[in-house]
Amino acid sequence: MTAAGFDGVERRGLMFVLSSPSGAGKTTLSRLLIERMPGLKMSVSATTRPMRPGEVDGRDYFFVDKPRFEAMVAQGELLEWATVFDNRYGTPRAPVEAALSAGQDVLFDIDWQGTQQLREKARADVVSVFILPPSAADLEKRLHTRAQDSDEVIRGRMSRATHELSHWAEYDYIVVNHDVDDAFAEVQSILKAERLKRERRTGLTEFVRKLQRQLEK
Ligand code: 5GP
Repeated sequence: MTAAGFDGVERRGLMFVLSSPSGAGKTTLSRLLIERMPGLKMSVSATTRPMRPGEVDGRDYFFVDKPRFEAMVAQGELLEWATVFDNRYGTPRAPVEAALSAGQDVLFDIDWQGTQQLREKARADVVSVFILPPSAADLEKRLHTRAQDSDEVIRGRMSRATHELSHWAEYDYIVVNHDVDDAFAEVQSILKAERLKRERRTGLTEFVRKLQRQLEK
């Protein structure tokens, strides 16, 4: 799980988790992070939910049927999985392990159940951020603007939001998404700081020894 960091010091890759109630802006923030932060790779989940207009299989999700999902669970192919809105969602293990061992960080857009499982498996490597909407009205507006779901689905998501919100205290960082640019800057700062954490920078001892040798000359 180590490779050279941007400044030449080896470090372990980290698992960067974003969670929020649907409509709090997490998908936009994830997209911005992937576009603007080198060395960060998105984990593409498998799901049994139907594809929405505009979604692409293999980019947004791997869309699979229930038997295939069950087979992935049985064969240990998923790092974590959960049932959300009556559908199954899970993180394929192999791409995550490959990215981490290549020294890349991995971004996860998963719910609190998945975050708990990742934390149990790899506490030291997980950095979790919970995104809060500024108000209930704002959340509802964003769900309607998205306009891809029926009113019934939106009502379901609003009532789920209350439940999801109750898990905020299990996260390392909390960002209130008043403004997408500000929220992005905050999330980006978290990732930048976490990349510099001493514990994850496995090459520091060697780096400092080299500095000392140079100074002694
Ligand atoms: P949506 O159907 O709107 O794309 O996602 C619904 C919820 O499922 C979101 O809260 C999202 O974070 C969560 N989710 C997506 N993929 C996964 C996954 O692989 N594991 C878990 N535990 N949750 C996921």
